[in-house]
Amino acid sequence: MYLPPGVTPTDFAAAIRHFETAVGKEWVFTKDEDVDLYKDSFSPFLGEPEERVASAAVAPDSVEQVQQIVRIANQYKIPLYAISTGRNLGYGGSAPVYSGCVVVDLKRMNRILEVSEDHASVLVEPGVSYFDLYRHIKERKLKVWVDVPDPGWGSLVGNALDHGGGYTRPYFRNHFDAHCGMEVVLPNAELIRTGMGALPGSKTWQQYKFGVGPWVDGIFSQSNFGIVTKMGFWLMPQPEAYFSGTVYAQKHEDLHQLIRVLTILEDGGITNGMPDTSSPLLGIISIAEQARMLAVDTPQAAEEPQLLALRDKAATGDYTGLESYGQRKGIPYWSATIKFYGPAKVVPLQWEYCKEKFSAIAGATFKDGELVRFPLASDPTDQARFPEFGIPSLNNFSIGAESSTNPQPLHGHMWFTCIIPRTGAAIIEVNQMFAAAAREFGLPELRFQLPAWYWQRSAICIFGFPVTTDIETNKKNRGHIFRLIEMAAKKGWGEYRTPPAYQDAVVGAYSFNNHSLLKFHESIKDAIDPNGILSPGRYGIWPKHLRKKI
Ligand SMILES: Cc1cc2nc3c(=O)[nH]c(=O)nc-3n(C[C@H](O)[C@H](O)[C@H](O)COP(=O)(O)OP(=O)(O)OC[C@H]3O[C@@H](n4cnc5c(N)ncnc54)[C@H](O)[C@@H]3O)c2cc1C
Repeated sequence: MYLPPGVTPTDFAAAIRHFETAVGKEWVFTKDEDVDLYKDSFSPFLGEPEERVASAAVAPDSVEQVQQIVRIANQYKIPLYAISTGRNLGYGGSAPVYSGCVVVDLKRMNRILEVSEDHASVLVEPGVSYFDLYRHIKERKLKVWVDVPDPGWGSLVGNALDHGGGYTRPYFRNHFDAHCGMEVVLPNAELIRTGMGALPGSKTWQQYKFGVGPWVDGIFSQSNFGIVTKMGFWLMPQPEAYFSGTVYAQKHEDLHQLIRVLTILEDGGITNGMPDTSSPLLGIISIAEQARMLAVDTPQAAEEPQLLALRDKAATGDYTGLESYGQRKGIPYWSATIKFYGPAKVVPLQWEYCKEKFSAIAGATFKDGELVRFPLASDPTDQARFPEFGIPSLNNFSIGAESSTNPQPLHGHMWFTCIIPRTGAAIIEVNQMFAAAAREFGLPELRFQLPAWYWQRSAICIFGFPVTTDIETNKKNRGHIFRLIEMAAKKGWGEYRTPPAYQDAVVGAYSFNNHSLLKFHESIKDAIDPNGILSPGRYGIWPKHLRKKI
């Protein structure tokens, strides 16, 4: 057993006894084989002393039990780490940031407290997964959708609190933005409700976010200021129809105009689905194509040596050969599929309008998608459709799995994910930075990549590294990520989300005015959690007694 640092075995044993009284003996886990389940299975510290481990876990069933756990933790100075469904793979799994924490596993608090079709909203406890809510909605034939991330087994609460994202309309695919109202147990065990929830008997908790006065919800995301025990979300009213269309552009330089028009159309609400970009000529596949290839083990077709040579040339800045090759063979340089949810009569017209706007790109060509009406008679056979139709699955877990092209399955992954401006220039610049980094790291030449478009107004670029069972490789890859954090920060780009291993470094890069934002977070921490019992270290916020000087 791993004890919380600074806690005597006698105090720890007493705390465990109190936890057992609070939640029932069967819901306190202290045996190694149980506690090991709370390790991060994608941990970049696999087999190293720094691997994050819990000392025990406790699974409450009610808000009152959560409050009791927090009181006991304060009495014995036991650090806690709250998780909802604990599926945060790639960003820390269910492991605490600070080894020795008792994990507060909220999976038993899995009640769907209210779904309103009229107001398109839901109030859930932390243990409710996307699968749970989807089934609930389907069984009752409600005309609302839940926006889902790739893995359906995660929770609405945990995913939103970690700033997770999905695939439908911008408003709903930003999961924290889509929330409306919270209930939180503070580190002193006080219970608060935010927004309209603070008004006793409120009739609009899930309809108006702000209540009155400072809106504090944001401080409970990516932080350690409270344990969220209820959260409201706005659901997407089931659209009548869906339509998509693809625009193709022929020249390297067209990237700038393509992204400019795409962004104007999205910011103006003309297109309202998540864009999916690719480059047939550079061999960059779209998210949809990737999903299809994962669903059915599809070996990638061999490409002509001439095309590969022209791509190498393009990587040096000489695109003309590649462009003429594409024109000869009818292979476009860029493509962007844009999507529309709305009335069946309207969505094809929105696409017509978009075509007009994209026609500003000389030589642009178009392909119309098909009109899909809802509700669907059955789940689509095309796996790529699941996320954009709000259907949860675990399809994406085939990433890195053994296949005909990947005989050596990955153990896991860690991603450097930075937010860049939505411009062609920024996309080119981030690729130059990644290429320079790959050279510095001694990695093979990187292929040009296009961002993901989860968030409106910005773009996300990802540099992925495998998590392996080899300690030296993992160490090297961790070093690469630290270096990328530094390189990106110099360009003015920060990460939006990161596993515990990098949280101090990522937060450290947000250093305006001598780290004044982090200092503000620390002041809040000191005021509301003087014993530093809640999730120490999460997103760089350490309690006073564990704080390093910056
Ligand atoms: C192949 C693959 C694809 C993925 N695709 C996506 C994707 O499309 N979109 C996406 O967003 N993510 C994605 N992820 C990341 C991750 O799996 C999901 O975000 C997942 O939903 C997070 O797990 P969870 O919901 O169980 O959250 P949890 O693990 O329960 O919570 C995450 C963190 O939030 C905090 N927290 C959780 N609950 C509480 C609470 N009640 N009170 C206070 N703090 C709390 C804790 O610090 C916790 O560690 C992907 C991962 C993999 C491996």
